Amino acid sequence: MTVFAVNGRILIVGATGFIGRYVAEASLSFGHPTYLLIRCISTAASKCKAITSLQEKGAIAISGSINDKEFLENVLRENKIDVVISVVGGDSILNQITLIDAIKAVGTVKRFLPSEFGHDIDRANPVEPGLTMYNEKRKVRRLIEESGIPYSYICCNSIAAWPYYDNTHPSDVLPPMDQFHIYGDGSVKAYFVAGIDIGTFTMKIIDDARTINKCIHFRPSANCLSVNELAKLWEKKIERVLPRVTITEEDLLSLAKENIIPESIVASFTHDIFIKGCQINFPIDGVKDLEASSLYPNIHFRTISECFDEFVAKIVVLPSKCLEDNVPAAKIVDQPNERFDEF
Ligand code: NDP
Repeated sequence: MTVFAVNGRILIVGATGFIGRYVAEASLSFGHPTYLLIRCISTAASKCKAITSLQEKGAIAISGSINDKEFLENVLRENKIDVVISVVGGDSILNQITLIDAIKAVGTVKRFLPSEFGHDIDRANPVEPGLTMYNEKRKVRRLIEESGIPYSYICCNSIAAWPYYDNTHPSDVLPPMDQFHIYGDGSVKAYFVAGIDIGTFTMKIIDDARTINKCIHFRPSANCLSVNELAKLWEKKIERVLPRVTITEEDLLSLAKENIIPESIVASFTHDIFIKGCQINFPIDGVKDLEASSLYPNIHFRTISECFDEFVAKIVVLPSKCLEDNVPAAKIVDQPNERFDEF
């Protein structure tokens, strides 16, 4: 059951961010009139490029911040916004309070998606400093529920990539080419979802009456893997066996305790996922909690195998080094952990 007679008008806050770009691309490809709230138009070169690319596809950029209630109310009213999707980063979670006030004051927004896009923060319970972020996200949930704004919470679990324990955006980085870090005994499973699917399923969810005031969990069964299974899959793709180094529960807890932001936050989440099993230790009741692949059985979630194939395609070949080391050319990388701007 769809919500909009015609494509709803979407406002995205945080479209220049890691998750935000996937959501903005999906909004445009679904044909939604798409407005981007950009707090600073002239920012880093990669962000300018991202904004221009979205504008070329039809997005309308509006300069401003979510900290200005009057301005936000005008944006929502003047552009007749139906859906607001916030994808602000972990350090800006409480800034959404003004946005909630503005949405409530205007009263015409049909759905609000706060910046979640991870775990079910009412169930998962990471150690600090991850807990502080979850407490902020919990505060935002309670405000939304009290305000009566229709909402959906997106719990998309882990991004499809190697889950580095110190990197907030692991899909920007090639999986390991030298050694694997295995968390604990490496047997605890998690769900891995491609960024592009986070965007696609988010678009399905905002236009679905079944998902109003629900938590939607992304649990594609083919993508439920342990770190041991993930390592084996990557080895198969690169046709090499890599050494394993164990990162113990204590290692993760002591990195979390160091309170280096954002690495310690990622360590606390890594501990929660791969030691405590926070993504898999509760059932989906089908009432308050819904599961995305059951809601949309005809839409294919990219498999982690397909995602790893994309990483393999990005491996840089160095012919001279191949000859030197006598290994197949396609398996050589320049910088194992180089960042890919376009990824
Ligand atoms: P990023 O830090 O990459 O991007 C944040 C975006 O929000 C940027 O576009 C930033 O704008 C914008 N922003 C921040 N504050 C404001 C403000 N006051 N007004 C307007 N815009 C603002 O965020 P992430 O993509 O890393 O995080 C988004 C959500 O996804 C978070 O809830 C995070 O916890 C979750 N997440 C989930 C992951 C997973 O594996 N499931 C991985 C990473 C994040 P500017 O360009 O000006 O900085």
